[in-house]
Amino acid sequence: ADAAHLIAVRDLAARYGHIEALRPTNLHVAPGEFVTILGPNGAGKTTLLRAMTRLIASTGQVVFRGRDVTSLKTHQLADLGIIMVQEGRGLFGDMSVRENLKIGAYKLAGSQVDHDRQLEKVFSLFPRLKERISQTASSMSGGEQQMLAVGRALMADPKLLILDEPSLGLAPRVATEILSTLGALNKEGLGILLVEQKAPLALKLAQRVYILSSGSVRAELPTHEIKSHHDLALYYFS
Ligand code: ATP
Repeated sequence: ADAAHLIAVRDLAARYGHIEALRPTNLHVAPGEFVTILGPNGAGKTTLLRAMTRLIASTGQVVFRGRDVTSLKTHQLADLGIIMVQEGRGLFGDMSVRENLKIGAYKLAGSQVDHDRQLEKVFSLFPRLKERISQTASSMSGGEQQMLAVGRALMADPKLLILDEPSLGLAPRVATEILSTLGALNKEGLGILLVEQKAPLALKLAQRVYILSSGSVRAELPTHEIKSHHDLALYYFS
């Protein structure tokens, strides 16, 4: 069954010392699927994403496009197309937009054609980045920085884009713009795994949602089955 998934994790678990931040968890993203993870603060959402991408030590299995990638490191997963936009964005503040995007395109280093094509794509999605191509990342607004973080991830030509709360700290209008862009990318076939607190929009974009609480998946359901926030609240606190 795993071969039918873009990514699948089995019994993925992680701990910080004696804190079991992520209990054995199963989760998958189908090819072309948009999956959102919701859950209260401290639920283990960031831990889950970090465990999946091997930014922290974890146990359990990870299968990507039918291949067991459990033993691979973060950069090897990135080479396969698993790209994460981390909370806090991880931009190089003193570097320009152009330079940050170039770093994202490390995989395409050999091919100027691929590089230019990805760059055009990023600029078409986020015209603001083109206008600010020479500006340093740290001098841009929060929203622009998040656009740059997403743009940089796209430069790596991801097969699965993982994002940890990209709307955090952003004005509603900018957050909506960025999340809507993720929806557009998904419509083109990109698999997306999104951790998000802005539940209404994230649920509108996603086809499926996992509710995480106290380090465990409490529910997994297609978003069309969620009729109201009341339903969600029940999952949060059950
Ligand atoms: P938030 O929405 O607040 O970011 P989250 O769902 O992403 O929360 P995590 O950041 O994954 O939750 O944290 C899960 C648990 O692990 C929390 O209890 C947190 O305090 C703990 N934790 C996270 N990072 C560390 C760390 N580096 N050392 C110790 N404990 C940690």
